[in-house]
Amino acid sequence: MPARVIDGRAHARTIRHELKLAMERTLPGQRRPGITVIQVGDDPSSTIYVRNKHRAAEEAGFHSSVEHFATATQSDLEHRISAIARDPAIDGILLQMPLPDGLDPDRALECIPPDKDVDGLHPYNAGRLAQGSPSFIPATPLGALELLRREQVDPTGKRAVVVGRSRLVGRPMALLLLQNHATVTICHAQTRDLSTVTREADILVTATGKPHLITGDHVKPGAIVLDIGITRDAATNRLTGDVDRETVDPVAGAVTPVPGGVGPMTIAMLLVNTLRAYRQHLGQV
Ligand code: NAP
Repeated sequence: MPARVIDGRAHARTIRHELKLAMERTLPGQRRPGITVIQVGDDPSSTIYVRNKHRAAEEAGFHSSVEHFATATQSDLEHRISAIARDPAIDGILLQMPLPDGLDPDRALECIPPDKDVDGLHPYNAGRLAQGSPSFIPATPLGALELLRREQVDPTGKRAVVVGRSRLVGRPMALLLLQNHATVTICHAQTRDLSTVTREADILVTATGKPHLITGDHVKPGAIVLDIGITRDAATNRLTGDVDRETVDPVAGAVTPVPGGVGPMTIAMLLVNTLRAYRQHLGQV
């Protein structure tokens, strides 16, 4: 039987609906949750991501703003982030990555107060996750985990393999699965004999940006495969994941498509994180 296709768009729609209901319950007479997305430069993919985040936040009833700088020095950027951070109406701050060459993302991220770091990238929040007491968790791995939860897949006791070890995706994904009691292995570009390792996985998560890296040979029969990779094919302008669906679908139990899998969950979980920050700021949690 071919793999079940997990519909991330449908799950994300449900989450956004739940957010709206939560807003209606908690908002009478209160200010709205506030989110600011900061973009430096004109990377076309970043511009699309920023627009999508802004639009989704507005649709959820949040107060959303975009701070766009064509160029900025490190000091300009840090001053601007610090000024936004002091605004009590802003609950969440997102710094769109990648920053243009010459700007240091680590120093910029450290200007976001951990309680407004709804992307979970500040060293404080990354450290909390590593220590097993997470606060804000990066939205993409959080979205992937939420997909598992909503598909009734409990990671407890399962073998999970994560391909990719970036700070934004692979590493927090592995920590999150560990936090949820999976037995976790992390693979990366130096991993030898990748398919032998990935074939151990009951839950296989791939986040490399290498189209078709994961073939049927890499997958244990019946495994759940979460494809986080997104690459735009220059010739066709279409998005592709890391998973070679033609060979993986006959082997896997379930798979997330690209587009329409983990991607839509990322924005939904950013909003969930922002609502949480908002409630914390109002003293509701
Ligand atoms: P990244 O920083 O470039 O990291 C890629 C990771 O993949 C690295 O750890 C790298 O290993 C590993 N890798 C590369 N080639 C490999 C190979 N042949 N075998 C095994 N591992 C390999 O990228 P990222 O920011 O984590 O993003 C990964 C992908 O997810 C991209 O396609 C990105 O567009 C996508 N993404 C999607 C969402 C979403 O919402 N769905 C959000 C963010 C990112 P080394 O560390 O050894 O170099």
